Amino acid sequence: MKNRKKIYEGKAKILYQGPEPNTLIQYFKDDATAFNNKKKDQIPGKGVLNNFISELIMTRLKDVNISNHLIKRMNMREQLIKKLDIIPIEVVVRNIATGSLVQRLGIKEGKVLNRPIIEFYLKNDKLNDPIINEEHIIVFEWATPNELEEIISLSSRINDFLTGYFFSLNIRLVDFKLEFGRYWDNEEASIIVADEISPDNCRLWDVKTNKKLDKDRFRQDLGEVGKAYKEVAYRLGVLSENEFKKVIKNDL
Ligand code: ADP
Ligand code: UDP
Repeated sequence: MKNRKKIYEGKAKILYQGPEPNTLIQYFKDDATAFNNKKKDQIPGKGVLNNFISELIMTRLKDVNISNHLIKRMNMREQLIKKLDIIPIEVVVRNIATGSLVQRLGIKEGKVLNRPIIEFYLKNDKLNDPIINEEHIIVFEWATPNELEEIISLSSRINDFLTGYFFSLNIRLVDFKLEFGRYWDNEEASIIVADEISPDNCRLWDVKTNKKLDKDRFRQDLGEVGKAYKEVAYRLGVLSENEFKKVIKNDL
């Protein structure tokens, strides 16, 4: 890689300074982590797949007027993005009960919720990303009341859109995590979608078989993690088997 200033290295991505002010380059790694970094491994090609999948989803969101940080995909592993002030909250939208919801509240695994639930977690690995509510967000000034309203409205629109989009590909959008940031333009901040939307932060189940096509395969040691991510990419039409092979060969 060239002499670029590394701004931040996270668990799944690296951020580099971008070519213009207020831009960053987001590099997708093959590293997979779960349970707050306690479980770690590499999934060959995951970064490439998430780069292409997230590009497609962010582009579709833009098509329906949901602003996000993507400027363009640059290559197999990198995207040029708008630099944002990240709101330190993980927003989780749930359509079907599973994961921490089931563990925390004893709800039956797989229960279809009669309306989506939006939850908030503080982005803080040291504290294990604790669940928080809207009052915490306002009182501790992680977002203003107007920003929070916008975050909720955007999360709900994204869920409606993506649920239908994935369903058309025979995939159930079970739940997913979003991040948002403030984008400054002429002293005015707007809230836009950040980070990535991929099988790393969505639960995706095949409609017919309920087969998991997401990071739960890694969390639960179900095997064929890369194969599941590829399946999502193929169904979305972002890469074919041949293109993927070519991409991976050039990547090594
Ligand atoms: P983590 O920080 O949880 O280990 P990643 O490895 O995915 O996660 O790192 C990506 C980091 O980049 C995240 O902390 C995320 O909040 C941040 N980020 C995502 N999009 C942007 C953006 N547009 N501007 C600034 N930071 C961003
Ligand atoms: N999620 C995420 N990052 C996190 C925590 C959760 O992307 O740090 C996603 C996760 O992939 C799932 C949804 O948010 O799609 C809900 O996760 P849950 O609260 O059930 O957490 P988990 O079971 O992963 O602890």
